[in-house]
Amino acid sequence: MYDVKSLKAEEFIDHEEILETLEYADKNKNNIELIEELLKKAEPKKTARGVECSGLTHREASVLLACEDPVIIEKIYALARKIKEAFYGDRIVMFAPLYLSNYCVNQCVYCPYHLKNKEIPRKKLTREEIKQEVIALQDMGHKRLAIECGEDPVNNPIDYVLDSVKTIYSIKHKNGAIRRVNVNIAATTVENYRKLKEAEIGTYILFQETYHKESYEKLHPAGPKHDYAYHTEAMDRAMDGGIDDVGLGVLFGLEMYRYEFAGILMHAEHLEAVHGVGPHTISVPRVKRAADIDPGVFDNGIDDDTFAKIIACIRIAVPYTGMIISTRENETCREKVLGLGVSQISGGSRTSVGGYAGYTPDERPHDTEQFDVSDQRSLDEVVYWLMKSGYIPSFCTACYREGRTGDRFMSLCKIGQIQNCCHPNALMTLQEYLSDYASPETKRLGEKLIEKEIMNVPNEKTRQIALDNLKQIRDGNKRDFRF
Ligand code: SAM
Repeated sequence: MYDVKSLKAEEFIDHEEILETLEYADKNKNNIELIEELLKKAEPKKTARGVECSGLTHREASVLLACEDPVIIEKIYALARKIKEAFYGDRIVMFAPLYLSNYCVNQCVYCPYHLKNKEIPRKKLTREEIKQEVIALQDMGHKRLAIECGEDPVNNPIDYVLDSVKTIYSIKHKNGAIRRVNVNIAATTVENYRKLKEAEIGTYILFQETYHKESYEKLHPAGPKHDYAYHTEAMDRAMDGGIDDVGLGVLFGLEMYRYEFAGILMHAEHLEAVHGVGPHTISVPRVKRAADIDPGVFDNGIDDDTFAKIIACIRIAVPYTGMIISTRENETCREKVLGLGVSQISGGSRTSVGGYAGYTPDERPHDTEQFDVSDQRSLDEVVYWLMKSGYIPSFCTACYREGRTGDRFMSLCKIGQIQNCCHPNALMTLQEYLSDYASPETKRLGEKLIEKEIMNVPNEKTRQIALDNLKQIRDGNKRDFRF
């Protein structure tokens, strides 16, 4: 029986409720009057305190996703763009993954790290190797990482992850620093989540892979990840352990996308109902080719247009949730979805264990790669491309360091302080990147952009402080300013 507040996976992700949602969506996908009403409901509204959005429920958003009318789809895209513009502006936050270990006791059938894959060498970074990787990432200009790790209580116990986080934060190479470490590790206990919180991680990320229990069990035939309830209830344990920022995701291609879409929104509604805070981010990975993995064997692959529609509908349904897209997607696809709601992208990524240090930008070690990277450009190329496409690449990590976690971003939107806070923070961290790491061409383009954009900070005092800070960064005096 569906109960958004239940702590049991099968009740807050109730299969019958999803089936009924899909049926309701099918019945109403041509109900233009209802759809227009939903689009109106989801519009950003100016209030005395700022801009607010109501979002949509999983049922409502599923109707939008089911609609095939090209005129309505354009309206969906336009609304998604408007919401994105209201809360995220042109800012795109940059990050990179750091693979710590590919030892894994699970048997996820889509992942090359599965236990039975004897074709790949198993590797786990030592403290010294982590240091080298982090230096390489800092030298590229990264400030935010997402650490990735297989599940293996012997080779990658929680203490290994905690020690790695500590090592990453401790490295200060030249002007570099990793200021936020997000963690993507397997579902674990409240006690371990508490330890991760104490280690000052940013977001705890865990992809559901699929919300469809029966498929989930088939796709994870053995190992601790086989337990659907333990996996699905992980975010509740993470929040009980004190982690405010959690990142959801499904691996598109495994199951029917409309099922997953309803599922992920139900999960978001559940977190909001139980903990008072929705997910900090939603990731939208698609299954990719990898050693021992042929994505063609999964019959639910989605084309780029459907992918874009999913992203736009997520943007409309959960307007305050960041959306992440990785280098699994190529440049063309990334360009298309950036405007529709994506707020964070990775750049210059390596998905192998030890893929950064000691390699030139054109060299890619493939032996321990988790999946093929489609966007193989360097971080500098991605930064340049973003600016050329009208975006502001941001290396900002201010929110969580200022204690603005959980629902605080939403409050920032509601009090209309985004332009006085996120905007100058993005520009100051971009200036750091330009001064310390950019190619001359990127630097030229970026400095022109900053000169123009800084004028869009409405509060005069804030603008003046930001201008002073920018000068200090350019003069090489100081780094790490934030509002
Ligand atoms: N081991 C952790 C777990 O089980 O949740 C997380 C780390 S895993 C390295 C990160 C994510 O990569 C997985 O959650 C999965 O969604 C994704 N992934 C695995 N195989 C993939 C593939 N062939 N193509 C694209 N993404 C894949």
